[in-house]
Amino acid sequence: MSKTVGEVIFVLGNLIKVEFDNQLTQGEIGYVKVGGASLKAEVIAISGKVAKLQVFEDTRGIKYKQKVEFTEELLEIELGPGLLGEIFDGLQNPLEKVADVSGLYLERGVYVEALDRVKKWQFTPKAKVGEKISRGSILGSTPESHFIHQIFLPFSMYGSYTLEWIAEAGNYTVDTTIAKVKDERGKSYSVSMVQKWPVKFPLIEGRKGTPKELICTGQRVIDTMTPMMKGGTACSPGPFGAGKTVLQQGISKYSNVDIVILAACGERAGEVVETLKTFPKLNDVHTGRPLMDRTCIICNTSSMPVAAREASVYVGITIAEYYRQMGLDALLLADSTSRWAQAMREMSGRLEEIPGEEAFPAYLASRIASFYERAGVLQTAENGIGSVSILGAVSPAGGNINSDPVSQETLKVVGVFLCLSRELSDARKYPAIDSMQSWSKYALRASENMKQGFPNWAKWIDRAREIMVEGDEIGRRMEVVGKEGTSLEDYVTFLKSEMFSFAYLQQNAFDKEDVYCSLDQQQEQFRLVNEIFSQSFAFKGADEAKDFFLGLQNDLRNLNFLPFNTERYHGLVSEIRDKLEKIQVIAEVS
Ligand code: ADP
Ligand code: MG
Repeated sequence: MSKTVGEVIFVLGNLIKVEFDNQLTQGEIGYVKVGGASLKAEVIAISGKVAKLQVFEDTRGIKYKQKVEFTEELLEIELGPGLLGEIFDGLQNPLEKVADVSGLYLERGVYVEALDRVKKWQFTPKAKVGEKISRGSILGSTPESHFIHQIFLPFSMYGSYTLEWIAEAGNYTVDTTIAKVKDERGKSYSVSMVQKWPVKFPLIEGRKGTPKELICTGQRVIDTMTPMMKGGTACSPGPFGAGKTVLQQGISKYSNVDIVILAACGERAGEVVETLKTFPKLNDVHTGRPLMDRTCIICNTSSMPVAAREASVYVGITIAEYYRQMGLDALLLADSTSRWAQAMREMSGRLEEIPGEEAFPAYLASRIASFYERAGVLQTAENGIGSVSILGAVSPAGGNINSDPVSQETLKVVGVFLCLSRELSDARKYPAIDSMQSWSKYALRASENMKQGFPNWAKWIDRAREIMVEGDEIGRRMEVVGKEGTSLEDYVTFLKSEMFSFAYLQQNAFDKEDVYCSLDQQQEQFRLVNEIFSQSFAFKGADEAKDFFLGLQNDLRNLNFLPFNTERYHGLVSEIRDKLEKIQVIAEVS
């Protein structure tokens, strides 16, 4: 049967209706022929011989009866060596190459293969001729960045195969045949280092496990108070300007994961440019290698077509899943998932679906849930444990999380809630994460990670939280009754909470030392904070208490700006301990 073709009979924004012959599948990709260009489109509904498609590009110029050719393929991406260090658009076109083809202004309908077809990779075979293999079996490998990139039998090849031939060790381009396999009926297939995965449902192989290992993001407020885990999920809803993007950029630079995928979804182009400018100059603090070597950027800024926004988050998660399959830890950062949800809403409106809350489609909740479900720890037979973690920024309309369906639906499914607060960002307290509102379902398990040498970690956190909550209450009360109406004991609690917030939780993303705080450093400083928290001081009056804590606060804060484990650092730590010893303490609580 020849491939299905059709004709456009209706256009509304990026929604088109197409009358087709033969057969069509839900999700199938078609190309609309406009002038010299072919615009990529995806089938989203079929009724009789008419299909509705979303076009991933500007639909200007599409006319009645214009031709559409279908491909029998779903929305798929290419996977193989060479994804890292690349910048793709929402449909996985490498932007640099697209620019080479279309010049300064990106043209419509320019699609370029994602992986370089000229570059050669050093392939080492592993599988043996005659071996029985199935999807996901390792055929061989090639070095990429700081790890070994496994070459799998494509995951789309269901059933069992016999290896008939495998290339000897050598340098090959990604599309060179490196193996030939035979299925049970004797039919032969050629396999290269590239494979294609559909993006909208996972194609993984292995057993899902529970997150057990902490991600060190280098942000004290996250790692200490609301920890994220490898294989876990997190969201950071917050109003415009609260620091969502700065936070994601920090996490993308400093997290101790193998692969970082940045999906810039519908945000301002300037922010992506910022990333592109800074990343190539930086090295990974954990491996010392160029940061770009572990990073892949999917870029669909607000100036690019809306329909590709939805695709961009799926492209990101699929790339992360592919690397997880190799036993690596991948982290997907999506900024912002609200723009993706808005794209869904726009399309739903054109489809005239019955709207749900705030005009979002009724399936918003299930789409969000099934996206975050793709995170997780994966135990594979051949590569051990890998993980995909997701941190999604959410930008609620008007900054109100409580009335925003995207925030609410996301909070139902994620493991960590980083609550960015307008109050804190207005006071320029960065990162503006309100640790009293934020939570992490992994907190207890994360404290297990700290057990060695820090058996009381969980208890310390509880105490810090208590002091924060009490201090906040006392602070509000003091605004009404003044310092005079507050007991000395309460005032000291207030000073402790202020000290903690100012000298520990706040972190300057633009200071070269403070931008990243290693776990070792967090442990050292949090221990110190807890020594202070566990003491009851015998101050003569409020003024003495204030002077003492302001001094302590400054010293503690200065620790953040000193290189860790240096003489100066340890000198300041001893100074702080001396001060604590000299001040009169009435009782020591353990
Ligand atoms: P959002 O993405 O939520 O709209 P941004 O991440 O762009 O907000 O942050 C807005 C501004 O806030 C930044 O340009 C920066 O000046 C300031 N800012 C945010 N986080 C920090 C931080 N950790 N340290 C210092 N300044 C920050
Ligand atoms: Mg932003």
